[in-house]
Amino acid sequence: MELEAKFATEEACRMYLARLRWPTGFRCPRCGADKAWAVQQRWECAECGRQTSVTAGTIFQDTRIPLPVWFRAMWWVTAQKNGASALGLQRVLGLKKYETAWTLLHKLRRAMVRPGRDLLTGRVEVDECYLGGLEEGLPGRLNVEKALVVVAAQEDGPGIGRIRMRPIVDASAASLVPFVQDSVEPGSVIHTDGWLGYLPLESKGYEHEVTFLKGKKKTPSELMPRVHRVISLLKRWLIGTHQGAVSHKHLEYYLDEFTFRFNRRTSKSRGKLFFRLAQQAVAVDPVTYDRMVHPAPAKTQAKPQLVGVT
Ligand SMILES: [Zn+2]
Repeated sequence: MELEAKFATEEACRMYLARLRWPTGFRCPRCGADKAWAVQQRWECAECGRQTSVTAGTIFQDTRIPLPVWFRAMWWVTAQKNGASALGLQRVLGLKKYETAWTLLHKLRRAMVRPGRDLLTGRVEVDECYLGGLEEGLPGRLNVEKALVVVAAQEDGPGIGRIRMRPIVDASAASLVPFVQDSVEPGSVIHTDGWLGYLPLESKGYEHEVTFLKGKKKTPSELMPRVHRVISLLKRWLIGTHQGAVSHKHLEYYLDEFTFRFNRRTSKSRGKLFFRLAQQAVAVDPVTYDRMVHPAPAKTQAKPQLVGVT
């Protein structure tokens, strides 16, 4: 109710986004001046006259969805412990079209990876797993063609700190090592099984700790309990919240949403999560519906380069 009251109009939402985008006050992107007039829905630079829209260059660019609906969607996605499916979002927002809910959700997922986020440090467990097919011990089925995902889980005493994950084309060193380099600070201890793909880590500045599984009585989940706990939670979430209906080409963004929520799971304040998501939403580049439905083929290889401030 607080959200509804606070963000009831386009104007209120725009002012909120403006404060996130220009935390130290308006800056003209052309001349750098800090004075502007509000002209209709834009800011007009008092020096050079350039008009800037607060949504230009963000995920809200060119949207036909009213900003208050966006804000409600952001709230719904962050306030629910497990997030929302497109169908759930469509119902709760009373949207006529499923596609609108789908678009909202997928655009928001793209804002869930913070540009320039901190790397994991300390001791980190890394392992790969297959998603898809019949999942052992879980009710339901994940309707993804078998997809390989690599997961890193930072140790926090006996518990789990922050995580990172990424779909990979294969379990070769060429896939695994760049993931570790993008996710974990050099000098950290990387704990893996004896798979050869992890061997080059030592030469990349990591301390590599190997636990060989062969001949051990313990199962992989006992030897690397954190990363396997994360994998099992991920599968539950994909099957539970999304009924297992996750398409291969969008898997990366589901992983981003899972990571976003997992890494903030101890945050007491849902409002803070909402703030983070909104903040990141004005910091990431816009993406069109066409681009989302037909991603570039190299999607699983490279993360889009995100620009902006956080
Ligand atoms: Zn200017």
